[in-house]
Amino acid sequence: MKIDLTSLKREKKSQVDLNFLLTLDTINYHGDVIKQLSPASVTGKLYVMNDKIFLTCEVYTEFQVNCSRCLKSFNYPMDTNISAELVREDAVEDEDDDEIDDLVYYQDDIIDLAEVVRENIILQLPMKMLCTENCRGLCSQCGGDLNLHQCECNSAEEEEGEGLDPRLAKLRKLLHQD
Ligand SMILES: [Zn+2]
Ligand SMILES: [Zn+2]
Repeated sequence: MKIDLTSLKREKKSQVDLNFLLTLDTINYHGDVIKQLSPASVTGKLYVMNDKIFLTCEVYTEFQVNCSRCLKSFNYPMDTNISAELVREDAVEDEDDDEIDDLVYYQDDIIDLAEVVRENIILQLPMKMLCTENCRGLCSQCGGDLNLHQCECNSAEEEEGEGLDPRLAKLRKLLHQD
């Protein structure tokens, strides 16, 4: 979704309404591939104010992710707002400008909104994806899903295992099944 900013820059009060759907490339996140379930809907505008170009838009999309604790896949809706000033990549920095807005750089009067939206979404993704806020995760010893049943393992050691990679727990579960 590339937009030519030339006309926007020439006419000082103009604006461009944005209303489009965007399918993102695969997002790799902490080693996991995040699937986009529906194209992101982007609504908002590009506008000029005081000779500066701004972008403001709302992005809504839905992903399929895996829970960081129990590995179950679940739907993760995301609603985010982008508000930024667009700056030419080769622009001389304005020393007097104290207001530090979010800046988005563009080249040759072309802004690639797909890239802007994609980067913003990646920034908004939480460090941990949890299926429910109090997901109990997998037992660090037998790999069983503690949301489904409480296993017989030593729970004292389990507390210690909080930082254990759930994928390792899953592996242990597979080994146990043999
Ligand atoms: Zn979970
Ligand atoms: Zn267990």
